[in-house]
Amino acid sequence: MQIDETFGPQGPIAKTLAGFEARPGQVQMAQLIERGILENVHTLVEAGTGVGKSLAYLVPALRSGKKVVISTGTIALQEQLVRKDIPLVVNALGISARVELLKGRNHYLCRQKYEKMSAERLVAPSAAMEKLWLWADRTETGDRAELTFTPRGDDWESLDADADDCVGEFCSRFADCHFFKRRDAARFADIVVVNHALFFLDLAAGGTLLPSYDVAILDEAHQCEKYATAALTASLSAGGVGRMMRKLHRTYTVPASHDAEIDEAMRRLQMVLARVPGERYPVAANDEILELLPSIRESFYRLENWVHGNWMTALRRPSDNEAESERRRDLALRAVTAHIATVDRIESAAEQATSGAVPADERDTIAWVERGDRDARYELNAAPFEVAEFLRTHLFARTPSVVLTSATLAEGRSFAFLREMLGIEAAQELIAPSPFDYAVQARLYIAPGNLNPKDRDFAKRAAPIIEECLDRTSGRAFVLFTSYARLREVHAILAERLTFPTKLQGDLPRTALLDWFRSTKNAVLFGTGTFWEGIDVVGDQLSCVIIDRLPFPSPADPLVAARIAALEARGRSGFEAYMIPSAIVRLKQGFGRLIRSKSDRGLIALLDGRALSMRYGATIVDALPPATRIAELDGLGALWDDVPSNV
Ligand code: SF4
Repeated sequence: MQIDETFGPQGPIAKTLAGFEARPGQVQMAQLIERGILENVHTLVEAGTGVGKSLAYLVPALRSGKKVVISTGTIALQEQLVRKDIPLVVNALGISARVELLKGRNHYLCRQKYEKMSAERLVAPSAAMEKLWLWADRTETGDRAELTFTPRGDDWESLDADADDCVGEFCSRFADCHFFKRRDAARFADIVVVNHALFFLDLAAGGTLLPSYDVAILDEAHQCEKYATAALTASLSAGGVGRMMRKLHRTYTVPASHDAEIDEAMRRLQMVLARVPGERYPVAANDEILELLPSIRESFYRLENWVHGNWMTALRRPSDNEAESERRRDLALRAVTAHIATVDRIESAAEQATSGAVPADERDTIAWVERGDRDARYELNAAPFEVAEFLRTHLFARTPSVVLTSATLAEGRSFAFLREMLGIEAAQELIAPSPFDYAVQARLYIAPGNLNPKDRDFAKRAAPIIEECLDRTSGRAFVLFTSYARLREVHAILAERLTFPTKLQGDLPRTALLDWFRSTKNAVLFGTGTFWEGIDVVGDQLSCVIIDRLPFPSPADPLVAARIAALEARGRSGFEAYMIPSAIVRLKQGFGRLIRSKSDRGLIALLDGRALSMRYGATIVDALPPATRIAELDGLGALWDDVPSNV
């Protein structure tokens, strides 16, 4: 059966999925992906909301009989694939397929750690740990997703199946280890579903984490650069060093002098890192870091020497099995030497940047300081600022067919930015036509050309426009900002005037905030980055998305600055080659929150007048879905005539 028949009105998908309607974009996408899989060609598909992209790649993937890895950015999409979409296609096609959802090691319980911990103590050390123990006794999968509570990081780490604590085949529970059982099952599966973090870590680890595959399908592929960079990032942080020391202590009786020395080194590092303000800054902006790194490295060397000298005698639980003891020693040494290598990488990148001896386009690594999300402590990072070469050699040259798809991949009608960023040479491309009639369903309003988010009075001038939009759409809106400071500033002006139920990001956890929005009439949500993508509010409940400014990446971000510097050193314009395409992809994500079904209608209001007044504005706006442009909010016309104002 041909693909178009499979998706046709009398085809197996329509017979299995009630209410299914064939969409031309979906059929084209499935046909192209099938050809790519059969002919060993890579495929890039932008498939906006409503195309039905998961069925469009699952049908050819499952028909191919090849070994396929599907990677996604969000847990929600993984769950949807494994629980709903894959069973549906398998059922419709009348085939059998082994499907495995594989997570990173630290998502699973380590039976040996739990056994040892519970054997040493008659009772759990805390009430929270007791809950974990109760679960550990009963679980059949060992997957922490089963937990109905969030364990403390330290508690979970003392029980997880992390590689640094695992002696593999020397473990007494190796045969029924939760993690290895899942990994073995994945080896024999036809389809393995993973997240981007694990997918790119596997590439960075030389393919040792996932079973081999013929086809890789990367959904939500606009996040590939971010995850590839993260997989190649080495970090030095108090948290990471603390984890390493706790692991060493679980294996050896480490003299307290090493803890004291390393704690002191980390304390001094925190002090030094905090001397330069900002959430992210290049290491080269703080001379004291380079002065401190040699002493940190010395502390790690002393620890490494201690492990070399004491691995047999300092074991907390002496073992007769020398091979197992050697494995434990190797794990300990690997953890310490990884930290030494991180210090070396950070030092070398910082020296490259400060000496000026290496031109910007020949540098390969950037080192920067970043304030952690949770504990607000700083950490040092080093990563390649371009991942194209890495992906070209480790992914695109090795995997016969890679499919990249997302609702936002292209800038305008071109994939040139994506290809350059990810190192993709030969690939077939498609922008799958959307089933939505944006001209009918959506209106785009752009604020006057003289309203510039860089101006000091922007919040004061933008607030009345936001108020008018909300009045006209009866709330039912996301008001999205590129910074939390701007969000608060605008909200402070409007707080007294808004008559709709309003909440700000941070008032509730993200999921609870979305539940509140979905269940509250005429709700207004003020949010930043996390609400730009991956959020699905179908129907009139979300009828307006207001965006404060064109979402250019911050040139103050060290990774962005390094990418731009490298482009300019090659004679290219960093603004045109990086900033504009990045802003387009991001703006399309924000736009994508609005129209989620054929019956959705709504207003997009862009408050950044530069979209009208600057030359690049037209490039960006023209790349958006083709909503009807309105010069005045009066132009909303009859969009909601049939919707009561208190919907
Ligand atoms: S094999 Fe490794 S992860 Fe599995 S139970 Fe043993 S030590 Fe833990």
